[in-house]
Amino acid sequence: MKHIKLKEKPNFASFDEISKSYFDKEKSKFLNDNKVKIQGFIQEFSDSGSTLYDIKPKKWSDEDKDKLTNCYSKACSKASKLIKSVHMNLEDADKGVCPFCGFSEEWHTDHFLPKSVFPEFSVYPKNLLPICGKCNGRKHNLYITKKRCKPFFYPLIDLESEPEFITAQAVKNEKGVVVISFSISPDELSKDEYAIAKRQFKRLDLNNRYRGQAISLFSKLSRHFSNKSLTLNAAFKIIEQNYNSSQIEEHKNHWKVVFYKSIYNKKTLPNIFNLK
Ligand SMILES: [Zn+2]
Repeated sequence: MKHIKLKEKPNFASFDEISKSYFDKEKSKFLNDNKVKIQGFIQEFSDSGSTLYDIKPKKWSDEDKDKLTNCYSKACSKASKLIKSVHMNLEDADKGVCPFCGFSEEWHTDHFLPKSVFPEFSVYPKNLLPICGKCNGRKHNLYITKKRCKPFFYPLIDLESEPEFITAQAVKNEKGVVVISFSISPDELSKDEYAIAKRQFKRLDLNNRYRGQAISLFSKLSRHFSNKSLTLNAAFKIIEQNYNSSQIEEHKNHWKVVFYKSIYNKKTLPNIFNLK
């Protein structure tokens, strides 16, 4: 869960360029005839800030809906360029971090407001966000909850102050097994942000996805410490180095940074790693 920023002067394909590249003349004409209407909707999107879930779906006939969503088709060369251009216009595009989960994964494209409900935004650049495959599958068409609440942060606007809000706990249970879990901390979030963070965390199954990574890292460290029969001080030094480098390499809510932070403690280390 992180903010993403567009470059100062993003270079997006214009609506005209997109409609001109639409090879089917009849559909291209449709886009052109509806240009003012669609641009009005785009203005509404733009004015909504991060409260996009308040936008009401518009009435389109099935045929018109089809024409609009088809704009996104990969067969339409400009649309495909447009999608690439959104990704290329992000300030830290080269890092390839999914703004929804924070993992570095291959980017897919998310229609933040789903194109099946909001076909008018199917090629609007600010509705086309990078996302990883797993988040894309879990986010699906959800844009508002049953109670009309916001299920996800809108990464182009939300979390700009980069609050630290994901925490990890590693504790040994009564059976001697180390249990790792992740959760949301309310400390640096507003009440609304806290509620959204919890919804997004749950919907995208982030506890399990982070925990899977953390367990394999923990096992690796555990094996290393025991094979080398390391002392507490030597093990602590390794954790410290890894924690420091993870902070340089990753954003502050990345599972690895959060996990190292949770075990960077001379009191808990001996217990969870069986150090002497
Ligand atoms: Zn993701």
